[in-house]
Order: sequence, then C-alpha cells, then structure tokens
Amino acid sequence: MSQTDVLLHAAVAAAGRGWPVFLLGRSKRPLANCPQCPKRGQPGAHAPEACTHLTCHGFYAATTAIDRIEAMIATHPDGLLAVRTGASPIGAGVVVVDIDPRHGGRYDPDLMAPTRCAATGNHGWHLFYRHPGHPVLSRPLPGRAGVDVKADGGYVVLPPSIHPITRHQYRWVDERNAEGMPPRLTELVLSPPAAEAIPSATSPLRTRPAGVCVGSADSQIRHPAKLVDVCLARVRNAPEGRRRVTLYGAARGVARAIHAGFDPDTGIALLTEAGRDADQTDRDIHAAITDAFTAEGLTP
Ligand SMILES: [Zn+2]
Ligand SMILES: [Zn+2]
Repeated sequence: MSQTDVLLHAAVAAAGRGWPVFLLGRSKRPLANCPQCPKRGQPGAHAPEACTHLTCHGFYAATTAIDRIEAMIATHPDGLLAVRTGASPIGAGVVVVDIDPRHGGRYDPDLMAPTRCAATGNHGWHLFYRHPGHPVLSRPLPGRAGVDVKADGGYVVLPPSIHPITRHQYRWVDERNAEGMPPRLTELVLSPPAAEAIPSATSPLRTRPAGVCVGSADSQIRHPAKLVDVCLARVRNAPEGRRRVTLYGAARGVARAIHAGFDPDTGIALLTEAGRDADQTDRDIHAAITDAFTAEGLTP
C-alpha cells in the first residue's frame, strides 16, 4: 500500500467511528486557506464553521464524509491526519489526554485507566476517553506537568501520520473503543480553570517552565479565549507597516492565555492563520511565535 492509501484507509476508518478528520500541513500546522476564501476581517469573509471549502480554516474543515476525505487527501497527499476532539458530532466525542514525556508528562495509573491509545511521533501518548457530554476545556491538565487535555475546540494528530521533526510515525497501541474517564480524571478535567491555572508570584507555573508572571490584575486572563480573540483582532486590524510587530505582541498575549489554560496547539494554529491573513510569511510567523512564547516562558 502506498503512503497515500495508508492515510486514506486510516481516515476512512476514523470517519467510520464518527470521528471528523482533517489534514494538517507536513509541518503539523494548519493548511493555508485557499485563495478564493476571503481573509478574516476582509469583505466577504465568512464564519469558518459555515465554509464549504475542503481544507480551509483548520479543524473547521473536519468531516466524516468519505468523498470529502478522499478529495482532501488527493489534494494534500503528504498532509498529517488529525481528528477534531470534543463533543460529538462537531468533534469526535472524545477527550484526549496528551502525555508529553519531554515536558515531564507520564502515565499515572492512579488517575488514568487503560483505553484506546496512540503512541505519538514524539515519544508521547494520546489516551482517548469518551467525552462526558458537557463542555470540556482544552488546556493543560491541572497540576500535571507535561499532560494536556484536548477536548472542545481542540484536535490531535492521528496515526499513521509522521512527526515532522522526529520522523517517527504515530501508531495505535490499543485500538479498543474509547472508555469513559475514571472518576478522579473526570473531576480534574472538569475542575474550574481560573483558580487552578492562573499563576501568581507565589505559585510557580506547574505545567510550563517558570519565569514569567502573568499578572493576576489582568482581568482578561480570567477569560483566556477572550484574550486570544482580542489579540487576533489586533493582528487583523493592524496597518500594513505594523503587522509584524503586532503579530509578536499578539503572540505574547496568546502565550499568556496558554498559561491561563488555553490550548497551545489551538493558540499556535490561530496565530498562524491570523499571520497568514496579514500576509506574513510562515517563516516570519514562526519566528514571531517562537520569540514571543520564549519571552513569556513557553516552549513553542
Ligand atoms: Zn476557502
Ligand atoms: Zn472559507
């Protein structure tokens, strides 16, 4: 089987489980919007969830329709397969516990239980649990270094994608149906974000390298998604000569939102999209995000 056939087979199998899938670029970032798709903030721009284009707007393009999946893969045969997490049917009806050993993440048998599981291409693990049906935030798992929750508004890369840096393949190590989350995990996943995730001068960040205080006086940090919206709007509305520096400033704001619980992958995806909308090159976007995240004590 060619790599394209392997990809198609996996995508169709996922769709058969009711999982909406889409493709990321080879660099693990969202594909660029097509040229016909009006940019955000410009005349004719549309809500991403209403767009009918095949691969525009990142995870909004996720689908279970086989003909659309075939067309996506035919257009981007070396894309990475990804699934939109979160409540069904917009998402796959899964909550993914994303364990990243490079940042201290580990499987904790007291908290987690065996379930459908993929080994990531980056030496980590994705545990797929059944979504409980009420809202689940995508954010770092409170109190657990190197463990993120990917649920509503999130996505994860699926097997048989190949990690762009390590060149390792994502692979299933347990293919059972997603189990329900154990009670302690449910409790932690659903715990209110504010008290748990907002760092202060006296409580160092638990899940990211310390060194930066977000400043609890900033009321927007209590609503990380709102902060992200404000930052992205600044990029879209920036005059031409100010776009680059505005993108950097926005990336710092998004980094703060990530400290406060916003999903890092979604933050990077949204910044990338806003940067492209503002006619920045991928290289400049990557540099702005890297510099800003580093300045805010995050590893992009
Ligand atoms: Zn489009
Ligand atoms: Zn569109």
